[in-house]
Amino acid sequence: MQFSELPLDKSILKAVKEERFQTPTLVQEKVIPVILEKKNVIVAAQTGTGKTAAFALPIIQLLISKEEETGKRKKRIKAVVVTPTRELAIQIEENFKSFTKYTDLKTTAVFGGVSLDPQKEILKEGVDILIATPGRLIDLQMREAINLNFIEIFVLDEADLMLDMGFINDVKKIEKMCPMKKQTLLFSATMPDKIVDLAKSTLKNPVKIEINPEETTAKNIGQLVYKLPKKNKTDLCLHLLRNTINGRILIFRRTKFGVDKLEQTLNKNNYNVLSIHGDKTQIIRNKAIENFKDSKGSILIATDVAARGIDISNVDAIINFDIPNVPETYVHRIGRTGRAGKSGIAFSFCSPDEDAYLHQIEEILQKTIKVIDDHPYPLTPPKKVKVQPNTISKNKKGRKSEASKKNKKRWY
Ligand code: ADP
Ligand code: MG
Repeated sequence: MQFSELPLDKSILKAVKEERFQTPTLVQEKVIPVILEKKNVIVAAQTGTGKTAAFALPIIQLLISKEEETGKRKKRIKAVVVTPTRELAIQIEENFKSFTKYTDLKTTAVFGGVSLDPQKEILKEGVDILIATPGRLIDLQMREAINLNFIEIFVLDEADLMLDMGFINDVKKIEKMCPMKKQTLLFSATMPDKIVDLAKSTLKNPVKIEINPEETTAKNIGQLVYKLPKKNKTDLCLHLLRNTINGRILIFRRTKFGVDKLEQTLNKNNYNVLSIHGDKTQIIRNKAIENFKDSKGSILIATDVAARGIDISNVDAIINFDIPNVPETYVHRIGRTGRAGKSGIAFSFCSPDEDAYLHQIEEILQKTIKVIDDHPYPLTPPKKVKVQPNTISKNKKGRKSEASKKNKKRWY
């Protein structure tokens, strides 16, 4: 399918073309027509499958066609996208800005951690599309700096992460701040029960669109698992970096402490390493992400929450230094590579205590991940052959004895 086959305005198609999007991704192909029919939707599709454009493009189209019907409308917030982190808000804002380049729709993003005044000023000038993190949105509403009474479309992006980060009550509050009559779109990488419950309480008769992880992961992401003792994980990591993995590499660790420790070790070994986790300031995290995006070959070490949803495309390989204990996290992690149809590879280091987690992951993927046995740190090292002195000793004439020759045969 081509973008031009979708009922999208020329101004949108032109901008999409400039983004070098050639064909819609699977989720875009399925979701865009349904949103254009003004239906509520719940969409589950793995990270990196192009969910942002799947809601941004039809939202822009709906706003443009309403202007065409009713004439030019007042600048006020007509669509709001709620997303859990500042990084995501900035990314979504960039997407909307490029897609609306040839329209007169205005987009802005508001998020915490920066001063309120510049955001208030922009809002005062009038915007059509607002991207917001939950806390800042509520804050601005309390200060009467925004008016959500004219919302036509309400988007909950990365809903699973939003709930993981404890935003459930904020999300419900925001939903109530908008008019009852509106189109609601919920996007999530995974669909745990708590998302289904949230959807039941916020969406009327939604159309459910689910792209299974196996449809998107199996195709273009190679997945390999290395079984080894926990104590050898750093050694294996160095071994693979030296011999097997090239390019831009994203390494996941469960804890901030783990991130720092691995960063130090890799730095000592002369690797170009960046890292992000919750204890680093926003400015430092943004800088690390920018540097990583700009580089051709470097390593970014991250915790899950710090990396979730961030669009770092063209990652050549992922290393799961720890096996995540929540299977959905694995899906998120490997979704950082092989984005939008490119190929990628994910290496997972599994120590015996993590076997159960690996099984859970294989269950949700509905496939077994290939185990690589040929590496220097296997779980059961090959038995050392005891050399019996009399069998390899040379006889007096300097030739090996018959016994030694026989044994040699047996050994190898
Ligand atoms: P998700 O929200 O599902 O994690 P994003 O919307 O962040 O995914 O998109 C992931 C990456 O894929 C981005 O770099 C985006 O620019 C790119 N992308 C999205 N749609 C397309 C497309 N149709 N063709 C090519 N690249 C695309
Ligand atoms: Mg997204």
